[in-house]
Amino acid sequence: MSKKTKDKNWNYSPAPESSSSATIEKRYNLFINGKWVKPSNGKYFKTINPANESVLSEVAEANEKDVDIAVKAARKAYDKTWSKISAKERAKYIYRIARMIQERAREFAVIESMDGGKPIRESRDVDVPLAANHFFYYAGWADKLEYAFPMRKPKAYGVAGQIIPWNFPLLMAAWKIAPALATGNTVVLKPAETTPLTALKLAEIIQEAELPDGVVNIITGAGKTGAAIVNHPDIDKIAFTGSTNVGKIIQQAIAGTNKKATLELGGKAANIIFEDAPIDQAVEGIINGIYFNQGHVCCAGSRLFVQESVYDEVIRKLKWRMKSLIVGDPMDKNTDIGAINSSEQLKTIEKYIAIGKKDGNQIFQSECFLPKKGFWCKPTLFENVAQSDRIAQEEIFGPVLAVQTFRTVDEVIAKANNTPFGLSAGVWTDKGSKIFNVTSKMKAGVVWANTYNKFDPTSPFGGFKESGYGREGGLHGLSAYLKFD
Ligand code: NAP
Ligand code: MG
Repeated sequence: MSKKTKDKNWNYSPAPESSSSATIEKRYNLFINGKWVKPSNGKYFKTINPANESVLSEVAEANEKDVDIAVKAARKAYDKTWSKISAKERAKYIYRIARMIQERAREFAVIESMDGGKPIRESRDVDVPLAANHFFYYAGWADKLEYAFPMRKPKAYGVAGQIIPWNFPLLMAAWKIAPALATGNTVVLKPAETTPLTALKLAEIIQEAELPDGVVNIITGAGKTGAAIVNHPDIDKIAFTGSTNVGKIIQQAIAGTNKKATLELGGKAANIIFEDAPIDQAVEGIINGIYFNQGHVCCAGSRLFVQESVYDEVIRKLKWRMKSLIVGDPMDKNTDIGAINSSEQLKTIEKYIAIGKKDGNQIFQSECFLPKKGFWCKPTLFENVAQSDRIAQEEIFGPVLAVQTFRTVDEVIAKANNTPFGLSAGVWTDKGSKIFNVTSKMKAGVVWANTYNKFDPTSPFGGFKESGYGREGGLHGLSAYLKFD
C-alpha cells in the first residue's frame, strides 16, 4: 500500500474544468423581438462569479418601457406567427433548441457554474441534461395536445410572463419556456439578477434556431423588472418560481385581473428515516437532500427526522460522511459543495446559523478549508432541534440541516406536516406498505421514497400550502398553459 493511501488525510488532486469553452460577452443587451436591443435607460448591472467575486459581464437593466416593448413583441408574434403555424412546425423548433443545448452542453455547464457557484459536476450532469430533456419532452407533446386532453379543445392563453430564481437558472428557464412553446404561447422571461448568463446564452440558441421573432423574449433586471412583467396589462399568464414572499406580492398584484398564474415557491421538506431503512443509502440520501447545490434547492431535505432506535448510528455515519465532503472551487470536478450564490444569501444563511446556536441547538460543521475570496458556508447540522425552532420552520436555502427524532409513524407524520410549506418530502424504509401509508398522508407535492432530489420532465412538480400552486412537468405542466372550451 502506498504511503498516500495509508494516510487517512489524503486528498484528491485538483481536476479543474477549463473555462475556455465558455464565451462570455463583456456586455449583454435585452433579447427582444429576435434582436439584441439596448435598455431604454442605458443602465447595466454586473454579474459576478460568487466563487472569486470577479466580474463576468454586465447585463442590461430593463425598465417598464422595455417590458412593454417585449410584451408587445410577444403579443404580435402570438397573433401573427406562433398561433398560425402548425403544431408540428412548433415542435420542430423546440426539438432544435433541445439539440442545440446538447451540442453546447459543456459551455452551458461551465457558464452555469461560473455565474451561480454550483459544482461543475452538477451543472454538467444534472442542470444541462435535464434542461435539454425538458425541451425534448415538451417538443413531443406539441402536436398531440388533443390526445393529451381528449374532448377538451385545448387553446393557448397568449403571452406568458415568466420569472425565475437563481438556484437552477438554465433548468428553470427550460421548465418555463418549453411547455409554453409546446402549447402555443409566446414568452417574456426574466432570469434572476445574480444568474442571468445561461438564460442569455439560451437566447443566442433561440436566435440561431430561427424561432420566429418575438416568440421568446429574454429580458434582464432585478425585482422591479419582474414586477413590471407581473403588472403589465397585456400578459395572460404569470409563471413564477421564487420565494413565498414575492409569490404573495404577485398574487395580490393580479387579484381581480384575468391573469392566470402558477406559483412555485419555498419549501421546508422533511426527510424521514425509519429504523428499517437501509442506513448507508439513507445517509447518502440525506447528504444529497441538503448539501446538493449548497442547499439552494426549494425541495431540499432541510428537516431530518430519524427514528430514535437508529439515531446514534445515523448521526455518526452522517457526520463521518460530512467530513469527507469537498467544499471549494465549483469548477473542480471533485467538488461536492460550491459557492453560495451571493453575499446576500450567505448573510441569510449565517443569520439562521446564529439563530440555531442561540436557541441552544447543538451544532456540527465539518472542518473544511474555505477559500478566502468568494462566498462559502461549511456543511452544517443542528441536533436536538425543537419543532417550534425557527431553523425547523423557516426556509434557510443553504447547507443547514435541522435534525429531530420520532418514535411512531403518526408522530412523524404530524411533525413533518407541521410547517407552512408543502413542497416535498423523503421517506426511507424497507417496507412498501409503510411507504404507501406515509406518502399518502404527507401534505407535499413530491414525495421521494428511498431516494431524494430526483427530477424528470415527465413527472409533475409543485407545492401545497405556502409552497404555491399549479404544477410544472408532465401533462400537468402542459395544462398550466392551456385554456379549455
Ligand atoms: P425571489 O427573491 O422571490 O426571486 C425570484 C425571482 O423573482 C427573481 O427573478 C427576482 O428578481 C424576481 N422578483 C423579485 N421581486 C419581485 C417582484 N416584486 N415581482 C416580480 N418578480 C420579483 O426568490 P430568490 O430568493 O431569488 O429564490 C429563492 C426562492 O425560490 C426560495 O424561496 C426557493 O424555495 C424558491 N424556489 C422555488 C422553486 C419551486 O419550484 N417551488 C424552485 C426554485 C426556487 P431578482 O433575483 O433579480 O431580484
Ligand atoms: Mg453571478
